[in-house]
Amino acid sequence: MIKENYEKVKEKVIKACERAGRNPQDVTLIAVSKTKPLEDLREAYAAGARDFGENKVQELVDKMPEMPSDIRWHMIGHLQRNKVKYIVGKVYLIHGVDSLRLAQEISKEAVKQGVTVNILMEVNIAEEESKFGITTDEAPALAEEIAALPGISLKGLMTIAPYVTNPEENREVFAKLRQLAIDISAKNIDNVTMNVLSMGMTGDYEVAVEEGATFVRVGTGIFGERNYQI
Ligand SMILES: *Cc1c(COP(=O)(O)O)cnc(C)c1O
Repeated sequence: MIKENYEKVKEKVIKACERAGRNPQDVTLIAVSKTKPLEDLREAYAAGARDFGENKVQELVDKMPEMPSDIRWHMIGHLQRNKVKYIVGKVYLIHGVDSLRLAQEISKEAVKQGVTVNILMEVNIAEEESKFGITTDEAPALAEEIAALPGISLKGLMTIAPYVTNPEENREVFAKLRQLAIDISAKNIDNVTMNVLSMGMTGDYEVAVEEGATFVRVGTGIFGERNYQI
């Protein structure tokens, strides 16, 4: 089932690219495998998945050594500063950077390890109380502060759109994230690029692709419903 799901989602991403006149190679599907057992991840890997997303540091570092080494791991969840040291040098991209203090911690650990860490700033476009992320207004200043830190490279923006039943309701959210990336890009900040847009989940990834997503994060659509009570 996972193989079929994965292929179906990939196909829909390609179709969305065609509708938007985009190159499908510019969109990467991240298989969000949180709470799922290794056998499920292996099935997705066999179907072609090479980008996996997890939202808990412990789960991420537990799964990583059990899976093939050509996987690109994405930390998509809220990251606590005291956990930074466990993932720096191991993950491909940290999606949820939402404060200068967190960025400073990542920078400190990166310098210690002699690596450069790629990150995205998480923006709470819809300004939902329950969500992490900075506001649109705060983003440009934080980008400039992050740019000055060693060992850290800001590549773009990430957002978690509201839960909606009709994905069209989130089109504006995605369009706003893209516009914000354009605005920050126009500031020509050294050491900052805004080519990456991580947006879109199972319920709305096609709309996100139409609005410019370069990473979509799909869990349920590939692995099925999650059971948090295990
Ligand atoms: C769980 C999660 C996803 C995937 O959600 P689905 O609706 O299952 O596709 C995407 N992004 C983040 C940040 C998540 O925590």
